[in-house]
Amino acid sequence: MPGKEIIGTLNNVLEIDLSSKTFSRVLISDSLRRMYLGGKGLGLKLLYDRLKPGIDPLGEDNLVIIMTGVLTGTQAPCSGRFHAVFKSPLTGIVGSSSCGGSFGRQLKSNGWDGLILKGKSKEPVLIQIHDETVEFMDATDLWGKDILETQTALGLKKSESLTIGSAGENLVRFANVAAGFRYLGRGGLGAVMGSKNLKAVVALKGQYKVVPFFKDKFDTLKTKANTYINRNTMSLLMRQFGTAANANPIIKNNMLPVNNFTYGNHPKAAQITGEAIKENHDTRNHTCKPCSIFCGHKGTFNGKQTNVPEYEALALLGASLGVFDPNDISRFNEICNQKGLDTISAGGTLAWVMEATHKGLVETDLEFGSPKNIVQALNNIAHLEGFGREMAMGSRALSDKFGGKAFAIQVKGLEMAGYDPRGAYGQGLGYAVANRGACHLSSFPVGFENLLNFLAPDTIRAKPEFVLFLENLYSAVNSLDICQFTGYGLTLETLLTRMTPHFVLRFLMQNLPVLAIALVDVSLYPDFFSAACGIDLSSKEFLKAGERIHILERLMNTNEGIRKADDTLPDRLLLEPQKDDPKKRVVPLAPMLNKYYKLRGYNKDGIPNQRLVKKLGI
Ligand code: SF4
Repeated sequence: MPGKEIIGTLNNVLEIDLSSKTFSRVLISDSLRRMYLGGKGLGLKLLYDRLKPGIDPLGEDNLVIIMTGVLTGTQAPCSGRFHAVFKSPLTGIVGSSSCGGSFGRQLKSNGWDGLILKGKSKEPVLIQIHDETVEFMDATDLWGKDILETQTALGLKKSESLTIGSAGENLVRFANVAAGFRYLGRGGLGAVMGSKNLKAVVALKGQYKVVPFFKDKFDTLKTKANTYINRNTMSLLMRQFGTAANANPIIKNNMLPVNNFTYGNHPKAAQITGEAIKENHDTRNHTCKPCSIFCGHKGTFNGKQTNVPEYEALALLGASLGVFDPNDISRFNEICNQKGLDTISAGGTLAWVMEATHKGLVETDLEFGSPKNIVQALNNIAHLEGFGREMAMGSRALSDKFGGKAFAIQVKGLEMAGYDPRGAYGQGLGYAVANRGACHLSSFPVGFENLLNFLAPDTIRAKPEFVLFLENLYSAVNSLDICQFTGYGLTLETLLTRMTPHFVLRFLMQNLPVLAIALVDVSLYPDFFSAACGIDLSSKEFLKAGERIHILERLMNTNEGIRKADDTLPDRLLLEPQKDDPKKRVVPLAPMLNKYYKLRGYNKDGIPNQRLVKKLGI
């Protein structure tokens, strides 16, 4: 019986104490909303105010904060998203993760913009939220069940849930959390939930409907945004081929992470392109809701319908292990999804183990190009069996213990995504400085370097400027909780960009990056924000909010001890060219990093200077 309306947001956050099994309401002021927007930004601010540096990520003091944005629950394109922030047990610094699926919408339909989960339950627990009530239910019977089994057992009509599998229960440092068929993947949120004995959070359908503050303006923006998305090449490629659309250009640029980033291509690589998967696996859209890009797909693998592996899974659970049969990769992907493992970190860790085995540092039955023992290895990780107990700690911990740091392909403890930065130097800088570790999405300059061909990939020119701009933009976008993949359509299809020839844009971006960036029209985002919640926000204020959010996250990390020495890449990428690269490229990180620090306002140790912190009002 939905009847009540939320005009944009109620500014209500539900705080749940798992130790005392109590709950209360936290109110968000309009000024905090304007400064941190929502989603990732507001989540970080709440975390910053509550979390002491130095706490054990798997101890009672860690917090899980789930936040929606002002667009969650509206019909804005690609707004079926929400965000989680926490201290990561994999990296020891801030963890953050964006997710599709309907949990965020459903939570908001109960009148809550977000959740703060604190403390620790003595026994396995399930939290059920319905309007103003929170029920703490015994989850002993669910403990030990995998994700699909748990979702099936919950079987509650009209509910949406966050669920962990065995990996989360067993505190695997890169355990994920499922929201329907979408995942909060990176940084080990599943282990944090497991450490709190929290098996699942269920949101029943609530009584609220989200309506925009300025409905007519909102509808006009929606039409405009959908028009832009529907004519944008990148959006259309993702609609057709999913994120695997990225595989073809990445292969052409010799950037596939074959055999743990040893090669950039492989004779069988064409099997894992989006085009080949569409042709051979009967794919169809299967997306977050609402969405206008439709990058999610399902298809037929091993004789059954299942999620098409994302590009990252194809790269990390496939190419990086020397495996190119999509049916094999789908099986590995399914194990990760059922046990609750992040596919990127699982693949990166297994690739390190294969190479370390080959080099005699560890003894396992895993080898590049052989799919046969991988399913067992993933099960061993999730259940901490045999060498799985060591692998469950991730590639940084493995290389600390057994040697082989040069080929542990991670930054700050987070395994790297599937774009070898020796073919895109800006992406190298992006990985080195990203707040959550080797995250491809923090700035994703490879999109401008290799997918859109705006920036020459193997020069350092304009890279620090673009990494900084994209970090600010995406921090803000992730705080509205609209999908980051809208970035192409919503900024590159505006009149000025559309009417300017590609070679002129390329010239401007490479040679006059500050001017080119100033000309990028991001106004659809703040306009959506204002139309949804009634708070005026200019493009300048929107990007400043993005900067504030990025710097706040950096500050939280420097409070945990992060310094310049951590803003680096593994030696393999700095010193060792790919074996099949005729240009023999490595990432020239130092000059890009120095310039980036200057532009950002970091001191020589990588700490944001006080003037900047004050200027941003942190
Ligand atoms: S584009 Fe893809 S990830 Fe983004 S909202 Fe749509 S389906 Fe989800």
